[in-house]
Amino acid sequence: MGEPLVVAEGLRKVYRSGPKEVVALDGVSFHAVPGELVAIRGRSGSGKTTLLNLVGGLDRPDAGRVTVAGHEVTALPEDGLRVLRRDVIGHVFQSFGLIPILSAAENVGVPMRLARVPAAEREERVRVLLSLVGLDGHANQRPHELSGGQRQRVAVARALANRPRLLIADEPTGQLDSQTGRQVMRLIRALVGSEGVTALVATHDPGLISLADRVLELRDGVLHGDDSRGDGPRGGEAGASAAAP
Ligand code: ADP
Ligand code: MG
Repeated sequence: MGEPLVVAEGLRKVYRSGPKEVVALDGVSFHAVPGELVAIRGRSGSGKTTLLNLVGGLDRPDAGRVTVAGHEVTALPEDGLRVLRRDVIGHVFQSFGLIPILSAAENVGVPMRLARVPAAEREERVRVLLSLVGLDGHANQRPHELSGGQRQRVAVARALANRPRLLIADEPTGQLDSQTGRQVMRLIRALVGSEGVTALVATHDPGLISLADRVLELRDGVLHGDDSRGDGPRGGEAGASAAAP
């Protein structure tokens, strides 16, 4: 089975706005092994984004700890987190997060520039990545010249640029129509196989959930159904995707 790539233990996160407190995560623990695609489902407000942000080093918990590929994320100082996010973890967001004035190729190249990858090597890797996500021929187009699905594929290529061990995707199909969403999901599923990365994907898209190796469910900041392999409602929710927000 091997060592888990991601270990989260007892994560707690409380947001305070004025006198009000929201317990976004309440003692969340889980692990993911190398090459596994783990879906985290739960309705809006259940804590999915909070959990992914803690695992990915974008925010810090009030209690608990996270280890990714042997790095204790929750103990790292800011500069350590920056390196971790550059080299070990790739992020994909619902709203793509591409830089508008850069071409598809330049967007994919950004993480490699930050890591000071030499130009020739960078250009070759960009070419391979764009081809991997089915965008050969679109290298010079800017985000506004691409469809939503194409933009998200550029974002996936960018997330993989520095060969991360972990891909974190927060509702990657949330802004796509169901058919385009399905293409992006299948792409993520295929890349987890071919690139050997582990993926954590927050979604309430039944199509994406059906492609996962394992499904974790968040309800009001508490994790349920720790291992639904083989017994989940997969496929039983067909048609629900048409009702996506
Ligand atoms: P999800 O991604 O599943 O929709 P979130 O992790 O975004 O859930 O939010 C979990 C809970 O924490 C929600 O009740 C949300 O309103 C609250 N929350 C999230 N971010 C903040 C914040 N920055 N300040 C205050 N409350 C927040
Ligand atoms: Mg969210």
